[in-house]
Amino acid sequence: MYDLVIIGAGPAGLTAALYAGRAKLQTLVLEKSSPGGQIMLTEGIENFPGIYHMNSPSWVETLKKQLADLENVKLQEDVSVEKIDPHQDIFKTFIASGVTGQKEILESNGVIVATGANPKKLGCPGEDLFVGRGVSYCATCDAPLYKGKNVVVIGGGDSAVEEALYLTRFAKKVTIIHRRNALRAVALLQDRAKANEKISFQWECVPSEIVGKTRVEAIKVKNVEIGEETRIDCDGIFVFIGFTPATQFLKGVLDLNPAGYVVTDENMESSFPGIFAAGDCRIRPLNQVVTACADGAIAAVAARKFLENKI
Ligand code: NAP
Repeated sequence: MYDLVIIGAGPAGLTAALYAGRAKLQTLVLEKSSPGGQIMLTEGIENFPGIYHMNSPSWVETLKKQLADLENVKLQEDVSVEKIDPHQDIFKTFIASGVTGQKEILESNGVIVATGANPKKLGCPGEDLFVGRGVSYCATCDAPLYKGKNVVVIGGGDSAVEEALYLTRFAKKVTIIHRRNALRAVALLQDRAKANEKISFQWECVPSEIVGKTRVEAIKVKNVEIGEETRIDCDGIFVFIGFTPATQFLKGVLDLNPAGYVVTDENMESSFPGIFAAGDCRIRPLNQVVTACADGAIAAVAARKFLENKI
């Protein structure tokens, strides 16, 4: 029996664990793969206040060390959460081991959901066929495979532009394909991309098909205004068109918005008392590491108060 089960070990979940641990709550953190979440898909973070060029893996390692000092915090990796059942004042969390498949039911007095979000897919023909054979959702993981090659990046947000810039370290040419004629990314990233000689733009186009024999050879894109289709030869396609919250298992338990994000109040409490949400899985105006950490801290303190009132 735990005081608190925290689901997800990204910046929000790890920070919640740090605050819960320091409040002496018996805390279990569940992680579906390994700690870090989405920031492990990026090489570094430039905009975390007070840390000049933060290296993502070493930042996560430091947070893990901070947690390892706290005897009342346990981290369980490679485990997926199948459902939460609020049962007579106690939360039952149903988990399955990603290694053995073995199922278990955990009991706690409170829950913090910090499951983040997963990359959205394009949904065009050829995408699923060529995943791992030219189609990628992680430049940090796969960019070195494209040394001297031509790649395209789909999307116009911070992720697309940041990852396009990273790809220029390896690729010969990077084409950003965006469905509008203006980027969504923050101005500083836009300036860098526009000034980079390796980057070119294909505006007002959406992918219609990914083609190749054994791996990606080209992408076909359709102009959204005139409907004309163009073929762009390329070796790799990096998709950064946003994220879908990892909240499927919460359907029917608490309020989600139509896109699946958890509805919370300013204390990170969901519509179900005792279940809190932090980070990218909840509705919020800004998805950043710094806001994920802030969410985690607020959720842990609110959960502690909830538990104190429960006793
Ligand atoms: P995002 O901001 O939602 O941008 C998604 C982009 O993909 C948009 O340009 C969108 O076009 C386009 N798009 C969406 N669906 C599409 C589709 N079906 N086909 C083609 N294009 C499509 O997602 P993100 O860039 O992953 O960023 C997510 C959050 O993380 C944001 O809050 C962002 O600020 C944050 N982030 C911050 C940093 C940083 O601070 N350095 C880095 C990465 C991410 P439209 O513009 O037309 O909508």
